Formats: sequence, structure tokens, C-alpha cells
Amino acid sequence: MSDLLIMGDGVVGNLAAAWFRRHMPALRVTIVGPAARNLPVVGESLVEFSTQFLQEIGLGRHLVEEQLPKYGLTFYYKLDPETPTDPRYVVDAVPTNPPLPSFLVNRFSLDDALRRLNRYNGVKHIDGKVTGVELNQDASHRVTARRSDGTELTCTARWVIDATGRRRLLARQLGLDEGVAHQRSSFWLRLADFDASILNRIDAMTNGNRRPDAYYAAHHFFGRGNWVWLLPVRARHAGRMISVGLTYRPDLFGDPMTSVPEFLDRMTREHPILADFVRSGRVIDTNLYRNYMYRARRRYSSQGWFLIGDAADTVDPLYSTGLALVAAAIQQVGVMIRCDLDGRLTDGFAADLDEAYAGLQRLAEEQVARLYDVMESGYQCRLRMHLQVVTFFRMAMPLLLNGYHTDAVGAAMMARLGRPGHGLARQLTDFEPLIARAAARRPARTACGDVRVQSTFAMNNSWFERCRDEEIPRSLRQMFWHMTAVRLGLMWMAGARSWLDPVQLGGLLRSSSWAAAVGVLRGCSLKRSRLVRWLFAHGGDAAEAAGPAGVGTRRTA
Ligand SMILES: Cc1cc2nc3c(=O)[nH]c(=O)nc-3n(C[C@H](O)[C@H](O)[C@H](O)COP(=O)(O)OP(=O)(O)OC[C@H]3O[C@@H](n4cnc5c(N)ncnc54)[C@H](O)[C@@H]3O)c2cc1C
Repeated sequence: MSDLLIMGDGVVGNLAAAWFRRHMPALRVTIVGPAARNLPVVGESLVEFSTQFLQEIGLGRHLVEEQLPKYGLTFYYKLDPETPTDPRYVVDAVPTNPPLPSFLVNRFSLDDALRRLNRYNGVKHIDGKVTGVELNQDASHRVTARRSDGTELTCTARWVIDATGRRRLLARQLGLDEGVAHQRSSFWLRLADFDASILNRIDAMTNGNRRPDAYYAAHHFFGRGNWVWLLPVRARHAGRMISVGLTYRPDLFGDPMTSVPEFLDRMTREHPILADFVRSGRVIDTNLYRNYMYRARRRYSSQGWFLIGDAADTVDPLYSTGLALVAAAIQQVGVMIRCDLDGRLTDGFAADLDEAYAGLQRLAEEQVARLYDVMESGYQCRLRMHLQVVTFFRMAMPLLLNGYHTDAVGAAMMARLGRPGHGLARQLTDFEPLIARAAARRPARTACGDVRVQSTFAMNNSWFERCRDEEIPRSLRQMFWHMTAVRLGLMWMAGARSWLDPVQLGGLLRSSSWAAAVGVLRGCSLKRSRLVRWLFAHGGDAAEAAGPAGVGTRRTA
């Protein structure tokens, strides 16, 4: 008998267990999962939010002492993708040292440290596989498992979290699968004993940004329907190690990528410098996932079951948001369990938190899915990415760091912003044809040094100095004005037709009215504002259930 039973001993199950031990130590937490691990491990790049979460559960010291710092993201766009031998790239690095820390992690040592922390903190581990789950209305769920020694056991628990990754135990059992429009596949390898100086040979046109150390970044190289990551990670013993991976949209990419020779062949044609780089080292291991995108129709229930991590949804790894979304989901489950303990958890609140999460997940996923259409076209790709980076740092991160995803009013607001065909998702989608038209009218092969994906404005440096809830309206207002200005600039470039296009005129109207509306709330906490409450928190039962506040992880470095 446990209070909370977590199915799956992977990174997500263990992150959840660690969070509950820290924040709700009275709960008895059990993890069921096989100790023998033969599944691929992937996800070496943290972002600011996942880093804060790891610090919060007690792994801050591990990150500093055992892992590598990450000085943001560096993007490499081929200046002339039609000529493979042209070695020139437009390179976009972060404008300054990022205001909040993040890390590049060796997942094997991170996962070990996390499991050690949990065992030390009294999380019970059952070495075995779940074979059946019986969900009951009175929230006394029964989980049967086969231990690794072959014996069977049945556990009961008031709350059950499915963290079984791609096995997706509950999503399959409950028929919660929702289709996705575009698939993704990845092939990756870890490399040792390589010649890092080869990367200095990149013929880079930079935008003037300077990193403290060009090597310690998440490097992204764009190609036709694909991108390649290079993530330096700390080797367990001596020497350097780097994770190299290629992610592609199969409908645009052609034959699936399954081996090192195929990878080298593609790189020789697309990024010869990366082929040289991989050939200079020793491949330690390789792995692949094919067609791994899916989404759950529903993740949370007021009846005490929850789906988190890969057991619920997958996101494209482009911006390394996987574990950040997981952190947000764990905090949401924590708030629901707290409400349940007080007898205040309602269907409406669980549904609002679910919708808020779905909105974030869609925003992180659907824009990226369509980015593959233009990945080889530097100008279009960079402009779209710029707008995505602006929304991530000016809206998503401030809301998450202030706990909006765990607050009834905040969650309802986030749900509306991320709803397909509405809010911000629509704003971004409407930009796409305009950017294509503007790109078509640019003189061919201009240096494209005029678009920055990342800038101090895009990355909201001034907000991150204090991370204050009351400054979110200002951050949003500037974001909407920026969108208005970018749209006007693009319409100017794209020519007369754009000024008659109702989609673009509607976009202008929407972003400027949003800017004016949030401007009225300057200096207020949006989730405490009566106006926002009236606009977004329908009915009010969810708000009642949530009580005064959810949990946020607002903490500066
Ligand atoms: C190519 C790629 C790159 C990525 N890069 C990043 C990144 O840079 N940064 C980032 O934050 N995220 C990244 N992600 C996302 C991140 O890797 C995933 O969110 C995360 O690894 C998912 O972990 P998980 O614990 O849900 O699943 P898994 O790691 O698959 O763990 C599931 C666990 O459940 C266990 N299990 C399965 N069936 C049962 C059963 N019946 N009973 C009990 N246990 C069971 C398995 O043994 C396993 O231990 C990336 C994802 C991909 C695909």
C-alpha cells in the first residue's frame, strides 16, 4: 500500500518521486520499474526551467560539480544550401551570458544521481514491470506487477502516475491517443577522442554576439528537412565526449537514417565539416527512434491518475524543452494531489491544468513541426525561430517561473493562449506565409546578417534580472508590440498584396489590441487581476479548488 505509486523508473518517474519527497514528505512514494536498463537514453540539454527544477529537488550541486555549463544555443545556417561545398554559415549565438544557468548533462550520471537521491530519501523501489492497472472510482487503484525474479505482486495506491515512457501504459489502456500532423525520427551517437579544433574551422558570419566559451553551447546545424545537434557532455572518466544527433521529418527527408555510414554520407553532402568532425573521433554508441511523435488527448484526472513525460506526449527536441515540460507537469500533479488531500479537487480544475499543459506542449511542438518545411532556407527559418524564441522567453518562461500553470486563473489563461487556431499559436502561424513572401522578394544570397534569432530583447534579459510576476504584463506588451512591428516590416518587404491580405491585417489588429490590453494591466499580477479572472476563469469552481495559489519555482540564480 502506497499513497503515490509511480510506474516507470526512468528520468521522469524519478523526477516526480524526488519532487514529492521534497514537497510532500508525508506521502509514501513507490516506484515500479525494471532495474535492468536496456532502453536508449536521450536528452542531454537542459534549459533554465528544467535546471531550476533540478536545483529545487536537490541536484544543484550535482549539476555544478558533475556536469558542464551551457552557454545557450548556437544556430548554424548554411549561407548557400544549394552548394554543399560552400563552407560559410550564418551563426547565431546568445547575445550575453544567459541570465539564468542551464547545463549540458551526461544523462547516465544525472539519472544515477537522481536514483541515489530518491533511494536516500526513502522512495521505495520495486524491481519489476507493471502488468495491469485497475483504476477505481474511489481512488484506491490496484497495480499488478511482475518482479524481475518472476514473482507477482499487487499494490494499491490512492494516486497513480504513469511514467512508463514510450510504453504508454495508461494512454493505451484508456485509448487516449491523439494523432499528430507530422512525424519525427532521430539518429544519434556519442563520440569521444575527437578533434574539437575542427569546429573552429567553420567559416562563420556572426551577428556580433559573443559567448564566454563557444564550445559549451547546444549547437544546431540546419539542413533540408533536418537539423543536427552537437552537445558537449562530461565523460564519466577522462577525456571529452560529445553527443551528436540528427532529427528529421521523414516526409521531407527521404530514406530513414539508421547507421554511422549513412549519417556520414548525408553530412558529406550537407555539412562536410561535421563529417570531418565525426570521422576525427571514436563512436562510443549509437541509437535511433523512428516516428516517435504522439500526443495524449488527456493527461490528468480528478480520480487520481496522471500521465507525465513520454507516457503522455513527445516534443521535438529542437529547443530542449522536454524536461522543462515534464517539470511543469510534475508541479501540476503536485497541486492536484494537494487539492485532493483537502477534498477540493474538481474535474474542472484538473481539466484546466491539462489544457494549460496542452497549450504549452502544442506551442512548443506544432510551430517546430512546420519549421522543417523551411529549415534549409536560412532567412525564413531564422525569422520563424526568432518569433518562437520571443514567445518562449517573453511569455512561456515568465508564466512558468511564476507558477501560472498551477494556478486556476493562470492555467485558464494559458489554455486560451495555446488553443489551436486561437491566441498566440494563431499569431505565429499567420506569420508563415508572410515570411515566405518577404523571403521571395529578397535579393538572392544577401548575407542575411540582419535577422537575429536571439537578442537581449528576444531573450528578455531585463525581465530575468528580477523574474517578478508584476512585470509580466510589461514583458507581454513589448512582445505584442514587437510582433506588430515585425509584421509591419515584413508587409513592407512583401509588397502591396500583403496590405490587402485579411490574415495579415487581422494579425496586426490582434497583436496591437493584445498589446494595448495588457498595457492596461501594467504593474499587476495577471493571475490576481479581477479582469483576467473575469475573462478567463469560467464558472469559478476551478479557481475555488485551487485556492490562493499553486506552486511555482520562481527563484533566481
Ligand atoms: C531525440 C530526442 C532528444 C531529446 N533531447 C532532449 C533534450 O535535449 N532536453 C530535454 O529536456 N529533453 C529532451 N528530450 C525529451 C526527453 O528525452 C524525454 O522527455 C525523457 O527522456 C522521457 O523520459 P521518460 O522517463 O518519460 O521515459 P523513459 O526514459 O523511456 O523511461 C520510461 C521508463 O519506464 C519503464 N517502463 C516501461 N514499461 C514499464 C512497465 N510496464 N512497468 C514499469 N516500468 C516500465 C522503462 O523501463 C523506463 O525506465 C529528447 C527526446 C528525444 C526523443
